[in-house]
Amino acid sequence: MLSYRHAFHAGNHADVLKHSVLMLVLEYMLQKEKPFVYVDTHAGAGWYDLRSGWCSKNSEYVEGVEQVWPMLDKADCPAGLKPYLAALKKLNPHGELHEYPGSPWLAQSVLRLQDRAQLFELHPNEFKALQTLFERDKQIRVESGDGFHALNAILPPAERRAVVLIDPPYEVKSDYKTLIESIKTAHKKFATGVYLIWYPVLDRTVVNRLERNLIDSGIRNILLAELSIRPDAEEAGLTGSGMIVINPPWQLKATLQKLLPELVRKLSDTGSFRLQQLVAEQ
Ligand code: SAM
Repeated sequence: MLSYRHAFHAGNHADVLKHSVLMLVLEYMLQKEKPFVYVDTHAGAGWYDLRSGWCSKNSEYVEGVEQVWPMLDKADCPAGLKPYLAALKKLNPHGELHEYPGSPWLAQSVLRLQDRAQLFELHPNEFKALQTLFERDKQIRVESGDGFHALNAILPPAERRAVVLIDPPYEVKSDYKTLIESIKTAHKKFATGVYLIWYPVLDRTVVNRLERNLIDSGIRNILLAELSIRPDAEEAGLTGSGMIVINPPWQLKATLQKLLPELVRKLSDTGSFRLQQLVAEQ
């Protein structure tokens, strides 16, 4: 059943949105000295070689990260893109984009000595790759298993500060239901965490249902940022994706308000974005 491999999609438009938002949130967390934990419930392999293997099969990165990468050294590079591009530069210091970081690598690149990370991955091969990547890093704990289930076992964290990325492949339809149950339990155990939930735009009715379920969950302060490169379509295919942020840092919405139109402009002639406070803070 586990056929999803993130390498096929590494660096595509959905990763650009997901990883830009993730890096912004992490940057805001770093503004306070207090330690935090980064939790990645669906971590993937952690690192990808864009020019070979599965990444080069469909080369999805060409219409994604490769379009925004040249903005790094431009004076008009949007502030919201800088933490993401700076992390990419650490992996690709010589200018050519060859390597792409997964969310665990991105988080590791900014962790301080007082911070730590907990990563979960279900697929045995992806888990092995992830484990090898971080085997020498004592701040990072890599676990094999179901991230939805594991999340609730590790909350609340000792630090009382956390960024939790929930990034399922949604290859099984039940992921949507499991996600809602998992986030409700997690929020009950630890209401002040920053939770980031990625979702694909494949079928608008499914996205609408996800939003409705989150609104009905009783959880407050939910921001939604969506980026589409094509209008919604009847036929199969990823036309866009979104990030739902529970307890977003206060600066995030204003930064995304400027970033999302820039991303649309860079990534597509037929794109659009949505930035919406799905549930108010109070
Ligand atoms: N977060 C990664 C990133 O941004 O670089 C990408 C993750 S990819 C979209 C989803 C990953 O979740 C896959 O590697 C898949 O094997 C894994 N997976 C699927 N179901 C899982 C589960 N229940 N618990 C943990 N990992 C799971």
